[in-house]
Amino acid sequence: MSSAENRLSVPDCLFCRIVAGEVPADVVASTERAVAFRDINPQAPVHVLVVPRDHHADVTQLAAVDPGLLADVVALADEVAQEHAGGQFRLVFNTGAEAGQSVFHVHGHVIGGRRLGWSPA
Ligand code: 5GP
Ligand code: ZN
Repeated sequence: MSSAENRLSVPDCLFCRIVAGEVPADVVASTERAVAFRDINPQAPVHVLVVPRDHHADVTQLAAVDPGLLADVVALADEVAQEHAGGQFRLVFNTGAEAGQSVFHVHGHVIGGRRLGWSPA
């Protein structure tokens, strides 16, 4: 699924709508298969969400269905982190509501721009 015409998309999905340009976002980088945009509620000086253009609910489903696309998402996260966070960053995929996932279109949080503590609970 690489062209916009046959892309995997879910009508009421917020991140599908951002990918389609129907909901505005501060896009910092994009490729044919993935988009990176700033989180609306940043938790650090750099807090960017990286999503595949195709809809997959979470990282485990993406890995199972299209592992190459997961690699593309990670590569774009690295590109964003190199440019905006000196290449040192945390990449978080919240998976499931109990783990803090609120948007069920897989997204990696690229977090950086300051020294990060370790208290994910
Ligand atoms: P999750 O909680 O699913 O891991 O992450 C969802 C993230 O999406 C949250 O950090 C939240 O701040 C962000 N978010 C929610 N709605 C919007 C929006 O409309 N635009 C942007 N750019 N980020 C959003
Ligand atoms: Zn979606």
